[in-house]
Amino acid sequence: MTLAEYLENAPEFKDSIAVQPLRAKVLLAMARRMDAAQERLTRADFHDFVRLAKEIAELGSWLGRTQDLPSQSQIENSFKANVAAGWPLGLAFDYRDLQRKKSRGRPMKNRNLALQALDLKETRPRYSWMQIAILLCPCEKKHDPTCKERIRQQALMLRKTLAALGV
Ligand SMILES: [Zn+2]
Repeated sequence: MTLAEYLENAPEFKDSIAVQPLRAKVLLAMARRMDAAQERLTRADFHDFVRLAKEIAELGSWLGRTQDLPSQSQIENSFKANVAAGWPLGLAFDYRDLQRKKSRGRPMKNRNLALQALDLKETRPRYSWMQIAILLCPCEKKHDPTCKERIRQQALMLRKTLAALGV
C-alpha cells in the first residue's frame, strides 16, 4: 500500500475532507509526492527526487502551526507570572514589549492562515474576505481593510502556488 492510499483510507482523513477540503488536498498531494520520491530513490533518479522533496517542503510550509503567536491575555498572564516569580521589573516589561512586538509585527507570517482562509471560502462560499479576516486575523485590534487585504493576498498566493504544482 502506498502512503497516499493509506491516507485516503484513514477514517480521520475522510472526515477532514468535508471540514477542511483544501488542507486534505494538500496533505494528499504531499503523500503522493512522498510515494513518488521513494520510487525515484529506488531508481537512483536523484534529480527528480530533489524536485519532489522541494515540492513536499513547499506544500508543508502552508500547513504550518495554528498557535504560533501568544494572545494579548497570554502576554499579560506571562507578565504577571514573571513578576510574581521575582523577575526584575525592567526585564519583565522588556519581555512583555518583545512579545507584543512579535504578535504585532508578523500577524500574517503564518501561512496556515491562508490555508484556513481558502478552506473557509470553500466550505462557506458566502463569507466575504472581511468576514474571513474577522475570524482568522491574529492582530487583536479592530480588524480593518488592511487585515482583509493581507489575508486575501496570502490566500491568492497559496492558490497560485497550488495551481503551479498542479494541486
Ligand atoms: Zn486584524
